[in-house]
Amino acid sequence: MAINYNIPEYDVLRDPQRCIACRVCERQCANEVHSFDPDSGTMKSDESKCVNCHRCVALCPTHALKIVKNPDTFRLNAYWGQNDISEIYRQAETGGMLLSSMGNPKPYPIYWDKILINASQVTNPSIDPLREPMETRTFLGKKPGAIERNPDGSIKTDSLPPQLKLEVPILFSAMSYGSISYNAHQSLARAAQELGTYYNTGEGGLHEDFYKYGPNTIVQVASGRFGVHHDYLEAGAAIEIKIGQGAKPGIGGHLTGAKITDAVSRTRMIPKGTDAISPAPHHDIYSIEDLRQLVYSLKEATEYKKPIIVKIAAVHNVAAIASGIARSGADIIAIDGFRGGTGAAPTRIRDNVGIPIELALAAVDERLRQEQIRSNVSLIVAGGIRNSADVVKAIALGADAVYIATPALIALGCHLCRTCQIGKCNWGIATQRPDLVKRLNPDIGYKRLMNLVSAWQHEIMEMMGGMGINSIEAMRGNRLMLRGVGLNEKELEILGIKHAGE
Ligand code: SF4
Ligand code: SF4
Repeated sequence: MAINYNIPEYDVLRDPQRCIACRVCERQCANEVHSFDPDSGTMKSDESKCVNCHRCVALCPTHALKIVKNPDTFRLNAYWGQNDISEIYRQAETGGMLLSSMGNPKPYPIYWDKILINASQVTNPSIDPLREPMETRTFLGKKPGAIERNPDGSIKTDSLPPQLKLEVPILFSAMSYGSISYNAHQSLARAAQELGTYYNTGEGGLHEDFYKYGPNTIVQVASGRFGVHHDYLEAGAAIEIKIGQGAKPGIGGHLTGAKITDAVSRTRMIPKGTDAISPAPHHDIYSIEDLRQLVYSLKEATEYKKPIIVKIAAVHNVAAIASGIARSGADIIAIDGFRGGTGAAPTRIRDNVGIPIELALAAVDERLRQEQIRSNVSLIVAGGIRNSADVVKAIALGADAVYIATPALIALGCHLCRTCQIGKCNWGIATQRPDLVKRLNPDIGYKRLMNLVSAWQHEIMEMMGGMGINSIEAMRGNRLMLRGVGLNEKELEILGIKHAGE
């Protein structure tokens, strides 16, 4: 038998005083860690398969289980870490690329945590959001250069470019049906409808049951063109052309055949059981002029009634790229930072390619302002938003709204075990296995999403009130409200903010 050089990452600790051998853990673990030993009448564990998703811990009726990091390590070495060594063992064994999911977990700087928010004191008093009006509604889309009026003085609304109306500046980011489950999609769609915001189909097409959520749906057109047809384009409130994704800039996507069930195959319009491979580039886009053709083809196909979003990954020359996109006819640019999640990505790409969204956002907003084309487009930022303070900082840095995905999945029960790519999500989110999918109840899921976004909305209003600002519009790009801590001159310059104390 070949030796497995890797040691299990986690220990499964079972308290024999508490365990009643009810076998709940065995039924709950899709990774087959737990089993019953009929000879001894006790439970056993194969911890080498455990991904620390906490499903068994949460459902054990006697709280007999704990999953802990295995304290055993390879010989300590200041240069070759545990992970470096075990990844080499894995590759030496399989000869394959390493795959991962969710976002970049490496300890790069988190700029959100080096930015602080202002608050009013004596002059310009703060606003109490419980007693005074506070506007979190915002509109995404191209803004007119000047206000046009009818002969009676009223504003001409029919000449406005198409807009997305958001009651709160938070949208659910693209997650395809196929990478996440039917019940996860339904939870997102219902929550978006109730909250007055939008969810995004990702590149997986739109399941026939979800057409009714069309007014709150952004439909995506990606390089694989899965599930794209006229009714699909017509169904959405906006169309997003996906050029890049923060978790894997520069490469395509791959959904394994195991996840292409009957319903996923129908929705994507590909044969059941075949791998769904999206090419890295769009094969008809090699320039801004080509992009412009696709933007206008989609506008033409939907009679100029829907805003077109172009989504890109945050990469080195993102400001110049965004400048080109703003001139392509797109109405909204979505920028996805390197902390953005995914259902599957090559580990080396996820962990080493792209740049932080904070720097990308500040650079893009500044460039578009300098070129006087900022009102040509709205900016949505994604990839690393963790809480309402991150939202406020993003808007003050220049975003019109944010996309969230990982926080939405965590609200649905995701425990960030980061093994979505194997399709055995014990929480019913990143899986197509019917027995696992039904573990996520969309009636509960959509309420948890609503609670999360409503809680953030209240917190955003508190922070805005503290700054003496009563609308998202007044906060957008208001970098005077931000100060940096522990940042060098170059970082402060790119972020366009002063250091704390200045
Ligand atoms: S994979 Fe999840 S359910 Fe299975 S043993 Fe580990 S923590 Fe428990
Ligand atoms: S979605 Fe599921 S598989 Fe993916 S990280 Fe979350 S709990 Fe793990």
